[in-house]
Amino acid sequence: MEKQKYQLSPNLHIISSHKSKTKMIYHTLYGNPRIINNEGLRFLNLFRKPVTIEKVSKICDEDPKDIIQEFIEIFFITKLGFDEKKFLREKREQQLIQMQKQQTIDRIGLAISDSCNLRCAHCIHFQPTTNFGKKPPTHQQTISQINMTWKTAKQCIDQYIVLMRKHGKTDGKIHFGNAEPLINWPTIKQALKYCEKINDISFEFSINTNLILMTKQIAEILKKYQVRIATSLDGTKMANDAIRITKNGRGTFSDIIKKFDLLEKIGYPLDGFSITVTKENFELINTDILDLAIKRKMTSIAFDYDLINLMHVPVEQRVSKLIKFKEYANKYGIDFFGTWDSPFRNLTSENFLSTNYAFCAAVQGKSLEFNIEGSIKICGHTTTTVGHINNFNKIFDKGGDLIQIVKNRFPGTNEYCSGCKIEGLCGGQCHVTREVVSRSVVRSQEDFFADMCNFYRRVTEALAIKYLLSNKTTMVGNRQSCAL
Ligand code: SF4
Ligand code: SF4
Repeated sequence: MEKQKYQLSPNLHIISSHKSKTKMIYHTLYGNPRIINNEGLRFLNLFRKPVTIEKVSKICDEDPKDIIQEFIEIFFITKLGFDEKKFLREKREQQLIQMQKQQTIDRIGLAISDSCNLRCAHCIHFQPTTNFGKKPPTHQQTISQINMTWKTAKQCIDQYIVLMRKHGKTDGKIHFGNAEPLINWPTIKQALKYCEKINDISFEFSINTNLILMTKQIAEILKKYQVRIATSLDGTKMANDAIRITKNGRGTFSDIIKKFDLLEKIGYPLDGFSITVTKENFELINTDILDLAIKRKMTSIAFDYDLINLMHVPVEQRVSKLIKFKEYANKYGIDFFGTWDSPFRNLTSENFLSTNYAFCAAVQGKSLEFNIEGSIKICGHTTTTVGHINNFNKIFDKGGDLIQIVKNRFPGTNEYCSGCKIEGLCGGQCHVTREVVSRSVVRSQEDFFADMCNFYRRVTEALAIKYLLSNKTTMVGNRQSCAL
């Protein structure tokens, strides 16, 4: 009988730099990055054509069986004829079964208010769209309700509690979000008090707020319940005030800084903030914003580009700005991250075959966001609803929209992404960015996608090279970059 032949996976990708003697090699669908030297690469190349282990053993000075086994386990070397996409699809089926059993949800978001006291030009909630005949997002539909009532919030929390108890979970996560949740503070306050009385579950709370409406009394309550505050400051005065503005067009830098001070004063300082960079503040933003964070002993800065409106800035320029900021922040012990590092973070923290991974928790089917009137989405900014709280169990139906979104967003599924060198790591990008592009008034949506993909590929490569040059031997840990 003919001996089993093995071959190099067609889905391996190598990242190298002339400044480093080692290279990073990974499987574009399954991940499993390894730092490898030229000798290792030469060894892998022995499998460029189908070959038996016995034949390779004869060529090698030492017994290579252990190393071959290791490469087989991480799918760098596979049996001849092995169908890598089919294998991934089978893994996906298991994830979908877990979803149908309602086991995957580990966090919920409550869209506390669809209204906002500011009018930041880049805000996703106020983007004009043509929609190409599609149903407009909830916040753009003509609805009279702008706030979530306590009755709806309670119904959503109760349903979450039922779900957690059913699966023996004792740690819950509730996020208060959407446009500006502090506009509807009474509902948040009631939710916090209500959850405090649930003895068998401990909750972690978080809120996205622009801080402007936060009083000392509100701050004290957020502190009492250890609500993690995610807020934004889009640069120092000029850069921030170019985009983060009131309804009258006034800059908000000083108002936001006052709230930073208030939180510090009550002993609940922020550990960081998010920066958004658009075409209006791209030239104005500089590392002085990081100096502000350093001075305040902050440890975590999220940074994201408005990818859709920055196409005129070459990808290389966008990436080098990011890397410069990251190096500066890391030098002072600040974690610097954003949606852009999701593929690299996936690459370095996940074994794609043993975990349910995707671009983010939302497209992984881990989170549910309840709209103000109880309809359900996968994250705070998507416009696609998957069901309603009044018919909660139905969202987990096999043919339902939730399962379909996760199924369609599973890495290795999208034809457009097939063969991309970060196919498994990226899994088709942020769902919301894709939605915004698909309904934007754009010259060419294809150009937008191509630009975003170039950006993601290039930034992932830059991060991998940075990693190689740091001579690290362990990969970075897992972190959720998107709090939405
Ligand atoms: S969305 Fe673009 S960058 Fe991401 S996997 Fe698909 S083709 Fe690659
Ligand atoms: S905004 Fe994008 S990255 Fe963030 S949770 Fe939603 S889909 Fe995921």
